[in-house]
Amino acid sequence: FAEIKNTDAELALAMEKELARQRNNIELIASENFVSKAVMAAMGSHLTNKYAEGYPEKRYYGGCEAVDIAEKLAIERAKKIFGAEHANVQPHSGAQANTAVYFAALNPGDTILGMNLAHGGHLTHGSPVNISGKYFNIIPYGVDKQTGYIDYNELRDIALANKPKMIVAGASAYPRIIDFEKFAQIAKECGALLMVDMAHIAGLVATGHHPNPVPYADFVTTTTHKTLRGPRGGMILCKKEWAKAIDKAVFPGIQGGPLMHIIAAKAVSFKEVLDSSFTDYSERILKNAKALAGRLTENGFNLVSGGTDNHLMLVDLQNKDITGKEAEKRLDSVGITCNKNAIPFDPQSPFITSGIRLGTPSVTTRGMNEDDMIEIADIINMVIKDYEGSKEEATKRVSALTAKYPLYA
Ligand code: PLP
Repeated sequence: FAEIKNTDAELALAMEKELARQRNNIELIASENFVSKAVMAAMGSHLTNKYAEGYPEKRYYGGCEAVDIAEKLAIERAKKIFGAEHANVQPHSGAQANTAVYFAALNPGDTILGMNLAHGGHLTHGSPVNISGKYFNIIPYGVDKQTGYIDYNELRDIALANKPKMIVAGASAYPRIIDFEKFAQIAKECGALLMVDMAHIAGLVATGHHPNPVPYADFVTTTTHKTLRGPRGGMILCKKEWAKAIDKAVFPGIQGGPLMHIIAAKAVSFKEVLDSSFTDYSERILKNAKALAGRLTENGFNLVSGGTDNHLMLVDLQNKDITGKEAEKRLDSVGITCNKNAIPFDPQSPFITSGIRLGTPSVTTRGMNEDDMIEIADIINMVIKDYEGSKEEATKRVSALTAKYPLYA
């Protein structure tokens, strides 16, 4: 921080505070991760200085030879990882990637089927407060009340009854494998395009630990900063026939100049994903999620759908007589970071909720293992059961655990 401190001591202080929080807390937010120092170095580099509107070798600015190399590396690696025909690595975020697909393939007023936000979907899949919900006619689908799994029969009925132009698959809080083949069959049957937003699971898809949507979907969008462990940003993969329309929708459709420092960081992170150690990482994410879910269940917690197939779980707190909001606050106070989350058919408002969402990508990056997950589940149990009686001991146990796995040492 030396340069930042010299220029802006106030800001440096805030950054130091956040670094201490990341180091000293157990990070269970399912959508977060810790990037490598190489990825961070690319993000904080001189590439931020370069304007490069357009695409490699077709730019609206001079001097783009070097950044062209960076963008081509990111594109080629993304295509290789996911077996995609075309990749656009310019979306500034996951929300931008989704908006670009809608802009490329739909007209205002068209019907989209998206997963209900309250059942695990994302805001950009049709929430009334998002542009997707304002510009398109959104029909939600959701999970079965008994099982917590996506109800594919209901999805098919809704699709055939409404004949949407597009079906959006993918979620922010769904702990089970998504059957993309089934989605594709339903989309074909009703004449809809299929977009898969794999933001949460992209890292698992990259290593074959979750089925790959690329062979089945017309468009696949993702963020690059969740399980994929790259810089904060978005990406779109698509079939060749959509390549031109997607590129035009991103720029000049909804964005201006690409963030070349972020695209370079995407290239670095994709190189890391292609290394065999990343396959091991995905495997450990899943093992840790299973261990955390298993111990929470032994401790009497109910998990939506009864467990997890991926990196996250949704804890239904209704039998624990505590809201998601209060649980998040209590855990935060002892150094465990997570987020309150609505559970399907939640009687509470989205600001209160009856659940919390927990994920293992970050703790796995730190090196924590299944034994550590058992310890975390036990600390969570103590804090939810008897906050006043356990907060001191819980804080100590969190510190002991984070001290074992130094971050950015
Ligand atoms: N899609 C899904 C499934 C997400 O979970 C998220 C973010 O949490 C997004 C899109 C949006 O990504 P961003 O925050 O980069 O706009």
